[in-house]
Amino acid sequence: MSGVELWSIADITRRIAAGEVTAAKILTDTIARITERDGELGAYLATDFEGAQTAAALVDAMRSANLPLGPLAGVPIALKDMIVTKGVVTTAGSKILDGWSPPYNATVVERLRAAGAVIVGKVNCDEFGMGSSTENSAYKKTRNPWDATRVPGGSSGGSSAAVAAGLCTASLGTDTGGSIRQPAAFCGVVGLKPTYGRVSRWGIVAFASSLDQVGPIARSVADAALVLQAISGHDPLDSTSLAQPVPQFSESIAAGVTGLKVGLPKEYFAGEIDPEIRAALDNTVAALKEKGAEIIEVSLPHTELALPAYYIVAPAEASSNLARYDGIRYGTRADASDLLDLYCKTRGAGFGPEVKRRIMLGTYALRSGYYDAYYKKAQQIRALIKRDFDAAFETVDVLLTPTTPAPAFAFESKATPLDMYLGDIFTLACNLAGLPGMSVPCGLTKNRLPIGAQLLGKPLDEATLIRTGAVIESALAIGAPP
Ligand code: GLN
Repeated sequence: MSGVELWSIADITRRIAAGEVTAAKILTDTIARITERDGELGAYLATDFEGAQTAAALVDAMRSANLPLGPLAGVPIALKDMIVTKGVVTTAGSKILDGWSPPYNATVVERLRAAGAVIVGKVNCDEFGMGSSTENSAYKKTRNPWDATRVPGGSSGGSSAAVAAGLCTASLGTDTGGSIRQPAAFCGVVGLKPTYGRVSRWGIVAFASSLDQVGPIARSVADAALVLQAISGHDPLDSTSLAQPVPQFSESIAAGVTGLKVGLPKEYFAGEIDPEIRAALDNTVAALKEKGAEIIEVSLPHTELALPAYYIVAPAEASSNLARYDGIRYGTRADASDLLDLYCKTRGAGFGPEVKRRIMLGTYALRSGYYDAYYKKAQQIRALIKRDFDAAFETVDVLLTPTTPAPAFAFESKATPLDMYLGDIFTLACNLAGLPGMSVPCGLTKNRLPIGAQLLGKPLDEATLIRTGAVIESALAIGAPP
């Protein structure tokens, strides 16, 4: 790396405010790292250096004029390509949206910009967020910065790899069944999936609307808290957005865990977990205990039903959401004379195999005569899973589990789609219940692959995740990739 320090958000904003560095210089360094490393890493699908330079110049001009700076002033941020950006091509990792230049910004983009963030580009993901390795991107491979022969996780693989390798300070991902937490775990960074409704979904390419949430991926819990702060809060453009007050998340960083009741759901420790992951979780438990937390075993009896329920609900909603990509409404050109051309183009380069599989699964599950057997049953299981969590949160404040059953795997090592789906067992229930979840690095395997600890919280209680995550981070820091 070109010898540039990877500053935290607090460092960047403080130094810019103090006149020690300019936003332009921070951006130049970030661009240099992208230019130097992204050819190999493959995190970015599109960069917008011109737009970023304009944003950085605005921050510097405001500083010169002594105007108040936003909480993310001058902070370089990358966005998963599921997030709609005005005038910057947004593909969701799919050829069906190749060249689509949206006419508007997602609410989260508007909020980041208002906070002074400098958006540097769009990062790779599994097509429409469907996958756990970013191998389902129609565009390119993204590598894990800790081991280039391994996947960065998915579907927000570009978001996690870019943050871990220092090709942005923080990023946004989306999480329908683990896509923020799982790649964060694989890449050794912090990923936070907010409570359903905490962050606006307006302008997020829809995968499964009742499960999707946007959230931050960052190199520290404190950075994640600052980004979450900027994007949270009610949005009248999203009817599922919650009109709830947003606490000052950063205030939880130093709160510690004394007296906090941390639940260990026994079902998450029962099955086949990699022994190194189990050992890292044991260390995490010991660290929390030593800092004053009370550890309590709890049971979430319907845990094993989360995977089958998710793989009905998510494809069912996806099959309905994806019906809009009929080759007519989205594409590079809006000119009617080009419609036939566009139609042929999108038909020729349509959905990839995983997306087709989900559409088939979802359409099948929703067929009349099958609806009760599949979709309705899955929704009933969802209610039971939610009830399990409600009961557990009567005795504990937060739950601790592994984020993944194994560390980052090699490219093309999952033989069947089911093998890939099984890697999601620990992350899916959180989305089915609409809860907030976070993955924090808690150790490295002997081959130096990151391990993530997952924290699950009560609805709207991201603050407790932040508080607990900060303790884990300070006790078990893993450092940066080579
Ligand atoms: N891996 C899960 C899937 O393939 C979750 C994806 C996500 O959270 N976007 O559906």
